[in-house]
Amino acid sequence: MADYIIAIDQGTTSSRAIIFDKKGSIIATGQKEHEQILPKAGWVEHDPAEIWRNVQEVIGLALSRADLTRHDIAAVGITNQRETAVVWDKTTGKAVYNAIVWQDTRTQEIVDRLAADGGVERFKPVVGLPLATYFSGTKIAWILENVEGAREKAEAGDLVFGTTDSWVLWNLTGGVDGGVHVTDVTNASRTMFMDLETLEWRDDILEAFGVPRSMMPEIRSSSEVYGAAEDSSLLRETPIAGILGDQQAATFGQAAFNTGESKNTYGTGCFLIFNTGEEIVHSKNGLLTTVGYKLGDGPTHYALEGSIAVTGSLIQWLRDQLGIISSAPEVEELAKQVDDNGGVYIVPAFSGLFAPYWRPDARGAIVGLTRYANKNHIARAALEAVAFQTRDVLDAVNADAGVDLTELKVDGGMVANDALMQFQADVLGVPVVRPVVAETTALGAAYAAGLAVGFWNGLDDLSANWQEDRRWEPSMEDAERDRQLRLWRKAVSKSMDWVD
Ligand code: ADP
Repeated sequence: MADYIIAIDQGTTSSRAIIFDKKGSIIATGQKEHEQILPKAGWVEHDPAEIWRNVQEVIGLALSRADLTRHDIAAVGITNQRETAVVWDKTTGKAVYNAIVWQDTRTQEIVDRLAADGGVERFKPVVGLPLATYFSGTKIAWILENVEGAREKAEAGDLVFGTTDSWVLWNLTGGVDGGVHVTDVTNASRTMFMDLETLEWRDDILEAFGVPRSMMPEIRSSSEVYGAAEDSSLLRETPIAGILGDQQAATFGQAAFNTGESKNTYGTGCFLIFNTGEEIVHSKNGLLTTVGYKLGDGPTHYALEGSIAVTGSLIQWLRDQLGIISSAPEVEELAKQVDDNGGVYIVPAFSGLFAPYWRPDARGAIVGLTRYANKNHIARAALEAVAFQTRDVLDAVNADAGVDLTELKVDGGMVANDALMQFQADVLGVPVVRPVVAETTALGAAYAAGLAVGFWNGLDDLSANWQEDRRWEPSMEDAERDRQLRLWRKAVSKSMDWVD
C-alpha cells in the first residue's frame, strides 16, 4: 500500500493540502488564501470557483514539495469550514451565487420569521441547534429567495446545495461528468435539517425553510469510500475516503475519541468540542448538540459544542481595521509590554455573541478606557477576550456534563501565542496542553480517510500517535481570577441590547 494520506483542509481563510505519513507527521503542505468578499456590513462571501481552483493548486504544491505522485497516496480526506453554503447548478457546474460564509448575518430576517412560530428553539430537540444565521439552512433559503431564477431551477431539480466538503468532493469526482453529491454526518448536523437520531434530512423542516429535498446531498458516514478522483485530477483514481467538518476533524485529530474528552481550536473563531459518546445530550447552557463522528457502519458519536464567532478575526481586525499591528504574531509583542490590561476589556461581538449567550443583538464593545490606556492594553485585552470567551464556554460544558474538565487540549493558528495560552490556563484554572502536530484539523481528516482504506487499523493506532508538545500551568491567584471574570462579565453585559 502507498505510504501517505493527503488531507484537503478547505478553511475560512485558506485552502490547504497536507500530506501525512503513518505516524501522523506532516510531510509537505500546500496553502493558498482566498478572497474575503465583504459586500456590506455583516455579509461575508467566498467565490466557490476560486476555492476549487485553489484546492487543485495546493494539491499540486503539496505533492511536488514532497516529491510524490498519486501512486504514493493511499486515500484523500476532506475537512472544511462548516455551515458555509454553496448552491450550484449541476448541469453547468457553476455556483448561482457566491458561497455565503458561516460568519454572515444577512439571514437574521429569515431567522426571525421562522422563530415567530415557535421561538428560536423550535427545531432544537430534533437538530440540536437553535435558529441562528450561523447555520447553513437559512443561507440556502436566502439564495432561493434572493437570486433571480434560483427557486425555479431548484424546483426543476437543477440546483444542488453543499457545504465546501461537498463542493470539493463533487468537483474532485468529476463535476458535471458524474460528480458524487454527498456530505458527511458532521457537516449535515450543521444545516438545521438533519435529525440527530435517524441521521436523515427532515422533510418538515426543509419545508418550513422552503428548501426542496432534491437539493440536499446524501448523508454518509465520516469514514468510507465516497468515490475516486477523476481522470484529469493529479490524484486520479485515488479514493476519497474521509469527510469531517473542521471542528470535528480537529477533535478526531486530537484523538479525543471517547466520552468526556474535548479540545478547543483557536482560529478565526474558537470552537470547543466535548465528546458525549453515543448519547445525545441537549444543553441547558447554550451549547449546541452536534455529531462528533461516525466511522462507516459504526455507532454515531455525539458532542456538545461551544462556538465563539470572533477570536483570531479580532486579531485580524487589530491589523486590518485599526492598523496597530502589521501581522498577527505582533499582537503578542505589544501585549507583553504591559503587565496587565490597564482595566480595558474588549467584547468582540462583531456579529452578535454565539455560545453560550446566543445574542444576535450584541455588538462589539471596548470598555474601561481611561486616558492611560494605550495600544498595548488594547492588544492585551484582545488576547484576553479570546481566553475569557473560552472560559464562558467551558463553564457551560462543565454545567451540562456535571463534571469539571481537568485539562484542555488546544490547537489552531493562535496556539503559537504563548501569552494567550498562559492567560488561558490562568483564567481557566486548569492546564492547557498542545500536541506536537498542531494541524489537528487536517490530521483528523487524514485519519478518517486512512481508517476507511486500512492505512491505519483502528483508533488505538491513532491514539498512539498523539504526543504532548507543551503544557501551560495556571499561575493566577484565585481572587485575581474572580475579579477578572467579574469585570469581563460586566463588559459582556454592556455589549448586549445594542441593535436598534
Ligand atoms: P482558520 O483555520 O480559522 O482559517 P487558523 O487556525 O489558520 O484559522 O488561525 C488563523 C487565525 O489565528 C487568524 O485569525 C490570525 O489572526 C490568528 N493568529 C495567527 N497567529 C497568531 C498569533 N501569533 N497570535 C494571535 N493570533 C494569531
